[in-house]
Amino acid sequence: TQFSELNLDPRVLQALGDAGYLTPTPIQAGAIPPALEGRDVLGIAQTGTGKTASFVLPMITLLSRGRARARMPRSLVLCPTRELAAQVAENFDKYTKYLKLSKALLIGGVSFKDQEALIDRGVDVLIATPGRLLDHFERGKLLLTGVQVMVVDEADRMLDMGFIPDIERIFGLTPFTRQTLFFSATMAPEIERITKTFLSNPEKIEV
Ligand code: AMP
Repeated sequence: TQFSELNLDPRVLQALGDAGYLTPTPIQAGAIPPALEGRDVLGIAQTGTGKTASFVLPMITLLSRGRARARMPRSLVLCPTRELAAQVAENFDKYTKYLKLSKALLIGGVSFKDQEALIDRGVDVLIATPGRLLDHFERGKLLLTGVQVMVVDEADRMLDMGFIPDIERIFGLTPFTRQTLFFSATMAPEIERITKTFLSNPEKIEV
């Protein structure tokens, strides 16, 4: 398979070409088609497998039409650490260079004011760590009722860091109708429980 056969937005294909990527990795070949059909995805994959593009590429294709409203992000990517969130944001920039999509990165150690200004302008893709996301929510500056696609990245690290209650709370703030793309390197019992609760008939891809 080539990326050109996967029904991605042509502008996304152009950005992939610029990066020199023609052939999807196994997690990408497995996750992109069901994600583009609107299905939930459970990806069991480690870092280094290309898992970031496996959720970023379908997300930005699905979001390429439509426009975000103030304080109501259209999609959400939850990451366990600031570093990982920053890496996802870099990937997003790389693949959206020919699209007009807005993003905001909500991580700790940065002032709330600048992040709030971004949220106010309307965000297509919100990339966040759970604690900082909930801080913004508590301040009344953010609504998650417009989230169409939600990604949980590195759920096993979320578990190690004690973020599972936060993740459950965030799931509860998003609409039932959202699409969920969920990634973990391992399937601990607690992770399995979360996927059973919050994913709907997911396509499971294990690499
Ligand atoms: P990740 O597992 O998402 O951290 O990606 C690992 C590395 O592989 C990153 O540097 C990506 O830019 C790169 N990468 C992702 N997809 C592909 C692909 N289809 N072909 C070649 N490299 C890729």
